[in-house]
Amino acid sequence: MNTVVTRFAPSPTGFMHVGGVRTALYSWLFAKKHKGRFILRIEDTDKEREVQGSIPHIIESLSWLGIAWDEGIDRGGPHAPYIQSERLGLYRSYAQKLISLGHAYADPYSEDELGALRAKAEGEKRPFLFRDHRPENPEPWDGTKPLRFRAPAIKRYEWNDLVRGNLSAGEEAVDDFILIKSDGYPTYNFAHVVDDIEMQVTHVMRGEEFISSTPKFLSLYEALGATPPAFATLPVILAPGGHKKLGKRDGAKDILDYRTEGYLPEAMVNFLALLGWNPGTEQEFFSVPELIEAFDVDRIQVSGAGFDETKLKSMNQYWMRKLSTDDFIQRGSLEASDARKLKLAVPLLKDRAQTFMEARTMLTQELSCLFETPSLTRDLILAKELPGRSDTAKEALAGLSELIRSLPQGELTADTVKIALMPLADAEEAKGKGGRGAVLWPLRYALSGQERSPDPFTLISILGPEESVSRIQNAIGILEG
Ligand code: GLU
Repeated sequence: MNTVVTRFAPSPTGFMHVGGVRTALYSWLFAKKHKGRFILRIEDTDKEREVQGSIPHIIESLSWLGIAWDEGIDRGGPHAPYIQSERLGLYRSYAQKLISLGHAYADPYSEDELGALRAKAEGEKRPFLFRDHRPENPEPWDGTKPLRFRAPAIKRYEWNDLVRGNLSAGEEAVDDFILIKSDGYPTYNFAHVVDDIEMQVTHVMRGEEFISSTPKFLSLYEALGATPPAFATLPVILAPGGHKKLGKRDGAKDILDYRTEGYLPEAMVNFLALLGWNPGTEQEFFSVPELIEAFDVDRIQVSGAGFDETKLKSMNQYWMRKLSTDDFIQRGSLEASDARKLKLAVPLLKDRAQTFMEARTMLTQELSCLFETPSLTRDLILAKELPGRSDTAKEALAGLSELIRSLPQGELTADTVKIALMPLADAEEAKGKGGRGAVLWPLRYALSGQERSPDPFTLISILGPEESVSRIQNAIGILEG
Protein backbone atom coordinates (compact mmCIF):
# COMPACT_ATOMS: atom_id res chain seq x y z
CA MET A 1 0.00 0.00 0.00
CA ASN A 2 1.22 3.51 -0.78
CA THR A 3 1.87 5.88 2.09
CA VAL A 4 -1.37 6.93 3.69
CA VAL A 5 -1.96 10.67 3.34
CA THR A 6 -4.88 12.33 5.08
CA ARG A 7 -5.76 15.96 5.45
CA PHE A 8 -7.89 18.27 7.49
CA ALA A 9 -9.16 21.08 5.31
CA PRO A 10 -11.18 23.58 7.33
CA SER A 11 -12.64 26.75 5.93
CA PRO A 12 -11.76 29.79 8.05
CA THR A 13 -15.38 30.63 8.77
CA GLY A 14 -15.40 30.86 12.57
CA PHE A 15 -14.41 28.91 15.62
CA MET A 16 -13.66 25.20 15.70
CA HIS A 17 -16.27 23.08 17.42
CA VAL A 18 -16.33 19.43 18.40
CA GLY A 19 -17.43 18.23 14.94
CA GLY A 20 -14.52 19.84 13.12
CA VAL A 21 -12.02 18.77 15.73
CA ARG A 22 -13.25 15.20 15.61
CA THR A 23 -12.77 15.13 11.82
CA ALA A 24 -9.21 16.37 12.30
CA LEU A 25 -8.58 13.86 15.08
CA TYR A 26 -9.80 10.85 13.11
CA SER A 27 -7.81 11.86 10.02
CA TRP A 28 -4.72 12.34 12.16
CA LEU A 29 -5.12 9.09 14.10
CA PHE A 30 -5.63 7.19 10.87
CA ALA A 31 -2.49 8.66 9.30
CA LYS A 32 -0.42 7.99 12.42
CA LYS A 33 -1.75 4.46 12.72
CA HIS A 34 -0.61 3.72 9.18
CA LYS A 35 2.67 5.62 9.54
CA GLY A 36 1.45 8.11 6.99
CA ARG A 37 1.29 11.89 6.67
CA PHE A 38 -1.32 14.31 7.90
CA ILE A 39 -1.81 17.66 6.17
CA LEU A 40 -3.48 20.84 7.40
CA ARG A 41 -4.85 22.84 4.47
CA ILE A 42 -6.93 25.99 4.68
CA GLU A 43 -9.83 26.27 2.26
CA ASP A 44 -10.47 29.98 1.96
CA THR A 45 -12.02 30.37 -1.45
CA ASP A 46 -15.33 31.66 -0.18
CA LYS A 47 -14.22 35.13 0.78
CA GLU A 48 -17.72 36.19 1.84
CA ARG A 49 -17.91 33.60 4.60
CA GLU A 50 -14.42 34.18 5.90
CA VAL A 51 -14.10 35.26 9.53
CA GLN A 52 -10.99 37.15 10.62
CA GLY A 53 -8.89 35.30 13.15
CA SER A 54 -10.13 31.83 12.20
CA ILE A 55 -6.77 30.56 10.97
CA PRO A 56 -4.80 31.25 14.17
CA HIS A 57 -7.76 29.83 16.04
CA ILE A 58 -7.65 26.59 14.04
CA ILE A 59 -3.90 26.32 14.61
CA GLU A 60 -4.26 26.97 18.32
CA SER A 61 -7.11 24.49 18.74
CA LEU A 62 -5.30 21.63 17.03
CA SER A 63 -2.05 22.47 18.81
CA TRP A 64 -3.78 22.45 22.19
CA LEU A 65 -5.04 18.95 21.49
CA GLY A 66 -1.67 17.74 20.24
CA ILE A 67 -3.00 17.02 16.74
CA ALA A 68 0.21 17.80 14.88
CA TRP A 69 0.33 18.16 11.12
CA ASP A 70 3.31 16.88 9.17
CA GLU A 71 2.87 19.51 6.52
CA GLY A 72 0.57 22.43 6.07
CA ILE A 73 -0.16 26.01 6.83
CA ASP A 74 2.59 27.68 8.92
CA ARG A 75 4.77 24.57 8.61
CA GLY A 76 5.33 24.31 4.89
CA GLY A 77 6.02 21.09 3.04
CA PRO A 78 6.42 19.79 -0.49
CA HIS A 79 3.08 21.20 -1.65
CA ALA A 80 3.26 24.66 -0.08
CA PRO A 81 1.48 26.99 0.09
CA TYR A 82 -1.27 25.21 2.03
CA ILE A 83 -3.82 27.97 1.81
CA GLN A 84 -6.06 27.90 -1.23
CA SER A 85 -6.14 31.64 -1.87
CA GLU A 86 -2.39 31.43 -2.54
CA ARG A 87 -2.79 28.56 -5.02
CA LEU A 88 -4.95 30.29 -7.61
CA GLY A 89 -2.40 29.76 -10.39
CA LEU A 90 -2.59 26.02 -9.85
CA TYR A 91 -6.38 25.94 -10.14
CA ARG A 92 -6.15 28.02 -13.32
CA SER A 93 -3.73 25.55 -14.85
CA TYR A 94 -6.06 22.66 -14.00
CA ALA A 95 -8.89 24.73 -15.48
CA GLN A 96 -6.95 25.19 -18.71
CA LYS A 97 -6.34 21.47 -18.82
CA LEU A 98 -10.04 20.77 -18.50
CA ILE A 99 -10.84 23.35 -21.19
CA SER A 100 -8.32 21.81 -23.57
CA LEU A 101 -9.77 18.37 -22.93
CA GLY A 102 -13.22 19.73 -23.69
CA HIS A 103 -14.42 19.29 -20.08
CA ALA A 104 -14.97 22.95 -19.23
CA TYR A 105 -16.42 26.03 -20.86
CA ALA A 106 -16.97 29.70 -20.13
CA ASP A 107 -20.49 30.30 -18.90
CA PRO A 108 -21.96 32.75 -21.45
CA TYR A 109 -25.00 33.85 -19.45
CA SER A 110 -25.61 36.98 -17.45
CA GLU A 111 -27.54 36.74 -14.18
CA ASP A 112 -30.68 38.02 -15.96
CA GLU A 113 -30.40 35.52 -18.77
CA LEU A 114 -29.99 32.70 -16.30
CA GLY A 115 -32.98 33.91 -14.34
CA ALA A 116 -35.10 33.85 -17.49
CA LEU A 117 -33.97 30.31 -18.37
CA ARG A 118 -34.74 29.11 -14.88
CA ALA A 119 -38.18 30.73 -14.90
CA LYS A 120 -38.96 29.11 -18.23
CA ALA A 121 -38.04 25.64 -16.94
CA GLU A 122 -40.12 26.23 -13.86
CA GLY A 123 -43.08 27.31 -15.99
CA GLU A 124 -42.76 24.10 -17.96
CA LYS A 125 -42.46 22.11 -14.74
CA ARG A 126 -39.15 20.55 -15.66
CA PRO A 127 -35.88 20.75 -13.75
CA PHE A 128 -33.48 23.43 -14.85
CA LEU A 129 -30.18 21.95 -15.97
CA PHE A 130 -27.18 23.85 -17.23
CA ARG A 131 -26.27 20.96 -19.45
CA ASP A 132 -29.39 21.74 -21.54
CA HIS A 133 -28.10 25.24 -22.25
CA ARG A 134 -24.48 24.72 -23.14
CA PRO A 135 -23.26 27.19 -25.78
CA GLU A 136 -22.62 25.69 -29.20
CA ASN A 137 -19.35 27.53 -29.61
CA PRO A 138 -18.18 28.71 -26.21
CA GLU A 139 -16.20 31.95 -26.01
CA PRO A 140 -12.60 31.55 -24.91
CA TRP A 141 -12.51 31.80 -21.11
CA ASP A 142 -10.93 35.08 -20.06
CA GLY A 143 -11.52 34.76 -16.32
CA THR A 144 -14.34 37.33 -16.17
CA LYS A 145 -17.10 34.74 -16.56
CA PRO A 146 -17.60 31.63 -14.45
CA LEU A 147 -15.95 28.52 -15.78
CA ARG A 148 -18.28 25.55 -15.84
CA PHE A 149 -17.56 21.86 -15.84
CA ARG A 150 -18.99 20.03 -18.83
CA ALA A 151 -20.48 17.13 -16.91
CA PRO A 152 -20.19 13.76 -18.58
CA ALA A 153 -23.22 12.04 -20.06
CA ILE A 154 -25.72 11.35 -17.32
CA LYS A 155 -24.91 8.15 -15.54
CA ARG A 156 -25.34 6.51 -12.21
CA TYR A 157 -22.48 6.90 -9.75
CA GLU A 158 -21.56 4.19 -7.33
CA TRP A 159 -18.69 4.19 -4.93
CA ASN A 160 -17.51 2.52 -1.80
CA ASP A 161 -17.46 4.46 1.43
CA LEU A 162 -15.11 2.96 4.03
CA VAL A 163 -17.69 3.51 6.75
CA ARG A 164 -21.02 3.19 4.96
CA GLY A 165 -20.23 0.60 2.32
CA ASN A 166 -21.62 0.97 -1.19
CA LEU A 167 -23.20 4.32 -1.89
CA SER A 168 -24.76 5.57 -5.07
CA ALA A 169 -26.32 8.72 -6.38
CA GLY A 170 -29.02 9.16 -8.95
CA GLU A 171 -28.78 10.54 -12.42
CA GLU A 172 -29.65 14.05 -11.39
CA ALA A 173 -26.50 14.25 -9.34
CA VAL A 174 -24.14 15.89 -11.79
CA ASP A 175 -24.93 18.98 -13.76
CA ASP A 176 -22.49 21.54 -15.17
CA PHE A 177 -21.24 23.00 -11.91
CA ILE A 178 -18.95 26.00 -11.55
CA LEU A 179 -15.22 25.36 -11.31
CA ILE A 180 -14.01 28.94 -11.12
CA LYS A 181 -16.23 31.84 -10.13
CA SER A 182 -16.21 35.22 -11.82
CA ASP A 183 -14.21 36.60 -8.87
CA GLY A 184 -11.33 34.36 -9.93
CA TYR A 185 -11.62 31.99 -6.96
CA PRO A 186 -12.28 28.31 -7.53
CA THR A 187 -15.29 26.66 -5.94
CA TYR A 188 -14.84 24.21 -3.09
CA ASN A 189 -15.88 21.39 -5.46
CA PHE A 190 -13.00 22.12 -7.79
CA ALA A 191 -10.25 23.38 -5.49
CA HIS A 192 -10.36 20.54 -3.01
CA VAL A 193 -10.24 17.92 -5.76
CA VAL A 194 -7.22 19.63 -7.34
CA ASP A 195 -5.51 19.85 -3.97
CA ASP A 196 -6.28 16.29 -2.98
CA ILE A 197 -4.77 15.14 -6.28
CA GLU A 198 -1.70 17.40 -5.96
CA MET A 199 -1.12 16.49 -2.33
CA GLN A 200 -1.57 12.78 -3.09
CA VAL A 201 -4.26 12.41 -0.46
CA THR A 202 -5.26 8.76 -0.12
CA HIS A 203 -8.10 8.97 2.41
CA VAL A 204 -10.68 11.69 2.86
CA MET A 205 -12.71 11.79 6.06
CA ARG A 206 -15.54 14.26 6.40
CA GLY A 207 -19.16 14.70 7.37
CA GLU A 208 -22.17 13.28 5.62
CA GLU A 209 -23.11 16.63 4.07
CA PHE A 210 -20.58 15.80 1.34
CA ILE A 211 -22.12 12.52 0.24
CA SER A 212 -24.57 14.13 -2.16
CA SER A 213 -21.77 16.01 -3.92
CA THR A 214 -19.51 12.99 -4.24
CA PRO A 215 -20.65 12.24 -7.83
CA LYS A 216 -19.42 15.71 -8.78
CA PHE A 217 -16.05 14.98 -7.25
CA LEU A 218 -15.88 11.58 -8.95
CA SER A 219 -16.74 13.05 -12.34
CA LEU A 220 -13.94 15.60 -11.90
CA TYR A 221 -11.40 12.94 -10.98
CA GLU A 222 -12.48 11.06 -14.07
CA ALA A 223 -12.15 14.09 -16.33
CA LEU A 224 -8.70 14.81 -14.91
CA GLY A 225 -7.62 11.19 -15.34
CA ALA A 226 -6.90 10.87 -11.63
CA THR A 227 -7.75 8.11 -9.16
CA PRO A 228 -10.06 9.33 -6.40
CA PRO A 229 -9.03 8.83 -2.77
CA ALA A 230 -10.94 6.52 -0.47
CA PHE A 231 -13.85 8.24 1.25
CA ALA A 232 -14.87 7.71 4.86
CA THR A 233 -18.00 9.47 6.02
CA LEU A 234 -18.10 10.25 9.72
CA PRO A 235 -21.32 10.00 11.71
CA VAL A 236 -23.25 13.09 12.61
CA ILE A 237 -22.86 14.32 16.21
CA LEU A 238 -26.21 14.44 17.95
CA ALA A 239 -27.39 16.89 20.59
CA PRO A 240 -28.12 15.49 24.06
CA GLY A 241 -31.38 13.59 23.74
CA GLY A 242 -30.22 12.20 20.46
CA HIS A 243 -32.86 13.59 18.14
CA LYS A 244 -31.10 16.31 16.24
CA LYS A 245 -27.71 17.41 15.09
CA LEU A 246 -25.60 19.14 17.73
CA GLY A 247 -25.88 22.86 17.12
CA LYS A 248 -24.53 25.94 18.82
CA ARG A 249 -27.62 26.11 21.01
CA ASP A 250 -27.06 22.62 22.38
CA GLY A 251 -23.55 23.38 23.45
CA ALA A 252 -21.53 23.05 20.25
CA LYS A 253 -19.13 25.62 21.50
CA ASP A 254 -15.71 26.85 20.62
CA ILE A 255 -13.29 24.02 21.41
CA LEU A 256 -10.98 26.47 23.17
CA ASP A 257 -13.76 27.24 25.65
CA TYR A 258 -13.13 23.77 27.02
CA ARG A 259 -9.55 24.76 27.68
CA THR A 260 -10.74 27.88 29.53
CA GLU A 261 -13.12 25.73 31.57
CA GLY A 262 -10.27 23.54 32.64
CA TYR A 263 -10.59 20.44 30.51
CA LEU A 264 -7.41 18.55 29.75
CA PRO A 265 -6.53 17.93 26.11
CA GLU A 266 -5.96 14.25 26.87
CA ALA A 267 -9.57 14.03 28.11
CA MET A 268 -10.92 15.91 25.11
CA VAL A 269 -9.04 13.66 22.68
CA ASN A 270 -10.16 10.52 24.52
CA PHE A 271 -13.77 11.74 24.50
CA LEU A 272 -13.80 12.82 20.85
CA ALA A 273 -12.18 9.58 19.72
CA LEU A 274 -15.12 7.68 21.19
CA LEU A 275 -17.66 10.03 19.67
CA GLY A 276 -18.40 7.86 16.66
CA TRP A 277 -15.74 5.19 16.99
CA ASN A 278 -15.34 2.31 19.43
CA PRO A 279 -12.49 -0.10 20.00
CA GLY A 280 -14.73 -3.18 20.06
CA THR A 281 -13.69 -3.81 23.67
CA GLU A 282 -14.79 -2.47 27.04
CA GLN A 283 -11.80 -0.12 27.22
CA GLU A 284 -12.91 3.44 27.79
CA PHE A 285 -9.77 5.36 28.67
CA PHE A 286 -7.16 5.76 25.98
CA SER A 287 -3.91 7.66 25.90
CA VAL A 288 -2.91 9.02 22.50
CA PRO A 289 -0.44 6.18 21.75
CA GLU A 290 -3.15 3.69 22.69
CA LEU A 291 -5.59 5.44 20.37
CA ILE A 292 -3.14 5.38 17.50
CA GLU A 293 -2.69 1.69 18.09
CA ALA A 294 -6.38 0.85 18.38
CA PHE A 295 -7.96 3.24 15.88
CA ASP A 296 -9.21 2.14 12.51
CA VAL A 297 -11.97 3.13 10.13
CA ASP A 298 -13.77 -0.18 10.26
CA ARG A 299 -15.05 0.59 13.74
CA ILE A 300 -16.34 4.06 12.91
CA GLN A 301 -20.09 3.89 13.33
CA VAL A 302 -22.69 4.86 10.75
CA SER A 303 -25.38 6.02 13.15
CA GLY A 304 -25.26 9.38 14.90
CA ALA A 305 -23.04 9.77 17.96
CA GLY A 306 -24.63 11.39 21.01
CA PHE A 307 -22.75 14.25 22.62
CA ASP A 308 -22.76 13.68 26.38
CA GLU A 309 -21.09 16.41 28.40
CA THR A 310 -21.50 14.42 31.64
CA LYS A 311 -19.32 11.74 30.13
CA LEU A 312 -16.78 14.33 29.03
CA LYS A 313 -16.64 15.66 32.59
CA SER A 314 -16.08 12.30 34.20
CA MET A 315 -13.45 11.51 31.59
CA ASN A 316 -11.77 14.79 32.43
CA GLN A 317 -11.77 13.90 36.12
CA TYR A 318 -10.14 10.59 35.27
CA TRP A 319 -7.30 12.35 33.43
CA MET A 320 -7.00 15.04 36.13
CA ARG A 321 -6.59 12.34 38.76
CA LYS A 322 -3.75 10.77 36.85
CA LEU A 323 -1.64 13.92 37.12
CA SER A 324 1.08 14.23 39.75
CA THR A 325 0.45 16.85 42.44
CA ASP A 326 2.83 19.34 40.84
CA ASP A 327 1.37 18.81 37.35
CA PHE A 328 -2.13 19.13 38.73
CA ILE A 329 -1.30 22.54 40.20
CA GLN A 330 0.63 23.75 37.20
CA ARG A 331 -1.67 22.52 34.43
CA GLY A 332 -4.73 23.63 36.35
CA SER A 333 -3.27 27.13 36.90
CA LEU A 334 -4.10 26.71 40.58
CA GLU A 335 -3.05 29.44 42.95
CA ALA A 336 -3.31 29.94 46.68
CA SER A 337 -1.56 32.03 49.31
CA ASP A 338 0.20 28.99 50.80
CA ALA A 339 1.97 26.64 48.41
CA ARG A 340 2.42 23.90 51.03
CA LYS A 341 -1.26 23.76 51.88
CA LEU A 342 -2.20 23.94 48.22
CA LYS A 343 -0.23 20.76 47.60
CA LEU A 344 -1.93 19.06 50.52
CA ALA A 345 -5.31 20.13 49.16
CA VAL A 346 -4.76 18.43 45.79
CA PRO A 347 -6.24 15.07 46.87
CA LEU A 348 -9.39 16.91 47.97
CA LEU A 349 -9.58 18.64 44.61
CA LYS A 350 -8.99 15.40 42.75
CA ASP A 351 -11.80 13.89 44.72
CA ARG A 352 -14.31 16.65 44.12
CA ALA A 353 -13.52 18.62 40.95
CA GLN A 354 -14.28 17.43 37.43
CA THR A 355 -12.68 20.41 35.71
CA PHE A 356 -9.93 22.81 36.70
CA MET A 357 -12.47 25.61 36.64
CA GLU A 358 -14.34 23.74 39.40
CA ALA A 359 -11.06 23.21 41.23
CA ARG A 360 -10.26 26.92 41.06
CA THR A 361 -13.73 27.79 42.33
CA MET A 362 -13.37 25.32 45.21
CA LEU A 363 -10.17 27.01 46.30
CA THR A 364 -12.02 30.29 46.65
CA GLN A 365 -15.19 28.83 48.17
CA GLU A 366 -15.48 25.47 49.92
CA LEU A 367 -11.72 25.20 50.47
CA SER A 368 -10.96 28.86 51.11
CA CYS A 369 -10.96 28.00 54.82
CA LEU A 370 -7.62 26.30 54.32
CA PHE A 371 -6.02 29.61 53.49
CA GLU A 372 -7.99 32.19 55.47
CA THR A 373 -8.71 32.30 59.18
CA PRO A 374 -12.47 31.81 59.48
CA SER A 375 -14.73 34.18 61.31
CA LEU A 376 -17.07 32.29 63.61
CA THR A 377 -20.42 32.92 65.25
CA ARG A 378 -21.29 31.69 68.71
CA ASP A 379 -24.62 30.31 67.52
CA LEU A 380 -23.06 28.12 64.92
CA ILE A 381 -20.40 26.80 67.28
CA LEU A 382 -23.24 25.71 69.54
CA ALA A 383 -25.54 24.52 66.75
CA LYS A 384 -25.24 20.86 67.77
CA GLU A 385 -25.21 21.39 71.53
CA LEU A 386 -27.38 18.67 73.03
CA PRO A 387 -30.62 19.65 74.77
CA GLY A 388 -30.32 19.72 78.53
CA ARG A 389 -26.54 19.96 78.42
CA SER A 390 -24.32 22.98 78.22
CA ASP A 391 -20.66 23.50 77.77
CA THR A 392 -20.28 20.27 75.81
CA ALA A 393 -18.82 22.16 72.90
CA LYS A 394 -16.43 24.14 75.05
CA GLU A 395 -15.20 21.10 76.93
CA ALA A 396 -14.87 19.10 73.76
CA LEU A 397 -12.89 21.83 72.04
CA ALA A 398 -10.55 22.15 75.01
CA GLY A 399 -10.01 18.39 75.09
CA LEU A 400 -9.46 18.23 71.35
CA SER A 401 -6.94 21.03 71.59
CA GLU A 402 -4.91 18.99 74.03
CA LEU A 403 -5.03 15.94 71.80
CA ILE A 404 -4.00 17.94 68.74
CA ARG A 405 -1.05 19.40 70.60
CA SER A 406 0.22 15.92 71.28
CA LEU A 407 -0.04 14.75 67.66
CA PRO A 408 3.22 13.42 66.20
CA GLN A 409 5.49 15.95 64.49
CA GLY A 410 5.84 16.01 60.71
CA GLU A 411 3.37 15.28 57.91
CA LEU A 412 -0.01 14.20 59.23
CA THR A 413 -2.57 12.14 57.46
CA ALA A 414 -6.28 12.47 58.07
CA ASP A 415 -6.19 8.90 59.41
CA THR A 416 -3.55 9.63 62.05
CA VAL A 417 -5.57 12.61 63.21
CA LYS A 418 -8.77 10.61 63.26
CA ILE A 419 -7.24 7.82 65.34
CA ALA A 420 -6.04 10.40 67.87
CA LEU A 421 -9.30 12.35 68.15
CA MET A 422 -12.07 9.85 67.65
CA PRO A 423 -11.95 8.37 71.18
CA LEU A 424 -13.08 11.72 72.56
CA ALA A 425 -16.07 11.80 70.22
CA ASP A 426 -16.84 8.17 70.95
CA ALA A 427 -16.80 8.84 74.68
CA GLU A 428 -19.31 11.63 74.19
CA GLU A 429 -21.45 9.30 72.12
CA ALA A 430 -21.39 6.74 74.94
CA LYS A 431 -22.98 9.34 77.23
CA GLY A 432 -26.06 9.74 75.10
CA LYS A 433 -27.57 9.54 71.68
CA GLY A 434 -25.98 11.64 68.94
CA GLY A 435 -23.20 12.91 71.17
CA ARG A 436 -20.52 12.46 68.57
CA GLY A 437 -21.92 15.38 66.59
CA ALA A 438 -21.71 17.53 69.72
CA VAL A 439 -17.94 17.10 69.47
CA LEU A 440 -17.28 16.85 65.76
CA TRP A 441 -19.50 19.72 64.67
CA PRO A 442 -17.88 22.43 66.85
CA LEU A 443 -14.50 21.06 65.83
CA ARG A 444 -15.19 21.16 62.12
CA TYR A 445 -16.89 24.53 62.33
CA ALA A 446 -14.12 26.02 64.47
CA LEU A 447 -11.59 24.92 61.88
CA SER A 448 -13.51 25.94 58.78
CA GLY A 449 -16.07 28.57 59.73
CA GLN A 450 -18.30 26.91 57.17
CA GLU A 451 -21.39 24.80 57.41
CA ARG A 452 -20.04 22.65 54.59
CA SER A 453 -16.39 21.75 54.43
CA PRO A 454 -14.10 18.74 54.32
CA ASP A 455 -14.10 16.59 57.44
CA PRO A 456 -12.19 17.94 60.49
CA PHE A 457 -9.44 15.29 60.35
CA THR A 458 -8.55 16.21 56.80
CA LEU A 459 -8.66 19.90 57.72
CA ILE A 460 -6.25 19.37 60.62
CA SER A 461 -3.90 17.31 58.47
CA ILE A 462 -3.66 20.23 56.05
CA LEU A 463 -3.71 23.14 58.50
CA GLY A 464 -1.19 21.48 60.80
CA PRO A 465 -1.47 21.24 64.61
CA GLU A 466 -0.42 24.78 65.37
CA GLU A 467 -2.91 26.54 63.18
CA SER A 468 -5.65 24.07 64.11
CA VAL A 469 -5.14 24.69 67.80
CA SER A 470 -5.14 28.43 67.27
CA ARG A 471 -8.48 28.24 65.40
CA ILE A 472 -9.94 26.07 68.16
CA GLN A 473 -8.74 28.49 70.83
CA ASN A 474 -10.43 31.26 68.91
CA ALA A 475 -13.72 29.33 69.10
CA ILE A 476 -13.26 28.70 72.84
CA GLY A 477 -12.60 32.42 73.27
CA ILE A 478 -15.90 33.27 71.57
CA LEU A 479 -17.76 30.83 73.83
CA GLU A 480 -16.16 32.35 76.91
CA GLY A 481 -16.83 35.81 75.37
N1 GLU B 1 -13.49 23.13 3.61
C1 GLU B 1 -14.45 22.09 3.82
C2 GLU B 1 -15.17 22.33 5.11
O1 GLU B 1 -14.65 23.02 5.96
C3 GLU B 1 -13.71 20.77 3.87
C4 GLU B 1 -14.50 19.60 3.50
C5 GLU B 1 -13.58 18.45 3.13
O2 GLU B 1 -12.99 17.87 4.05
O3 GLU B 1 -13.41 18.18 1.95
O4 GLU B 1 -16.26 21.86 5.31
